Amino acid sequence: MTQTTVCFIGAGNMSRSIISGMVTHGYDPQCIYATNPSQPKLSALQQDFGIHIANDNLAIAKQCNVIVLSVKPQLMQQVCQQLSTLDLSSKLIITIAAGIPASRYHDYFKQPIQLIRTMPNTPTQIGFGMTGLYAQQGVSEQHKQLCQLIMQSGGKTLWVQQEDELNQVIALAGSSPAYFFLFLESMVDAGKKMGMDETQARELAQQAALGAAQMVIQNPQTPLATLRSNVTSKGGTTAQAVETFEQGGLRELVDNAMNHCVARANEMA
Ligand code: NAD
Repeated sequence: MTQTTVCFIGAGNMSRSIISGMVTHGYDPQCIYATNPSQPKLSALQQDFGIHIANDNLAIAKQCNVIVLSVKPQLMQQVCQQLSTLDLSSKLIITIAAGIPASRYHDYFKQPIQLIRTMPNTPTQIGFGMTGLYAQQGVSEQHKQLCQLIMQSGGKTLWVQQEDELNQVIALAGSSPAYFFLFLESMVDAGKKMGMDETQARELAQQAALGAAQMVIQNPQTPLATLRSNVTSKGGTTAQAVETFEQGGLRELVDNAMNHCVARANEMA
């Protein structure tokens, strides 16, 4: 069956992750195209996944049904203005760039477009991503399904109804892998101070993180507070640690950090 042709403008880390997921999930590589100004990343994509590659954004975008804009935000205007010379009326445009509101793409393209903004996170690189999706009014159901098919090749997806909810997606999923890394770093540092070597401390902490995440995922009906209290015997060791976190204001700190994250996303838009 012939699949919809999809081109990635910009063949960097995110494009590679998404293309890898698409091909792994059975998308025909002959229907996938990628462009980049320099050759090495393109050649690697062609070699690893058997997709089409090119240096010419315009020629490739012209022949594809879906255009995934995957350049750094500061290059987006230049890339969109170049593509605006094409008739985009029947194409779906997907952007993965952080911080550029939909209205700005309309300014760049200067013609009616069907646009979906997406907000992936870095675990997309290993198939455990979480991507927020926002479709503007007028995007067809078929295009929404297509976008979801493309983005869920890197993990899970969640549609939001309002564009500004994408900033909440950033606070909860886009930026949050870094919160967990920080927490793990702190645990490993504490373990080292107690005399453990780094490799052992990391192995213990990372396996506990994986186990905790799996328990949350496998018990969707169980409140998080119940999962916590189930491992917290009264007067025991865990209770002592949890109480220290509570007294230290962990919840307020997380709330504050996430509000700052959203505020920064608003500022950048
Ligand atoms: P990257 O730098 O790895 O890739 C961008 C690619 O675009 C580079 O290979 C670059 O050579 C190429 N490029 C530059 N100018 C171009 C042009 N005129 N035409 C075509 N290609 C051009 O960046 P990335 O990490 O893959 O990020 C891509 C986008 O994804 C960014 O907008 C970023 O905000 C967004 N994003 C990234 C992450 C992440 O975790 N990396 C998460 C969410 C969103």
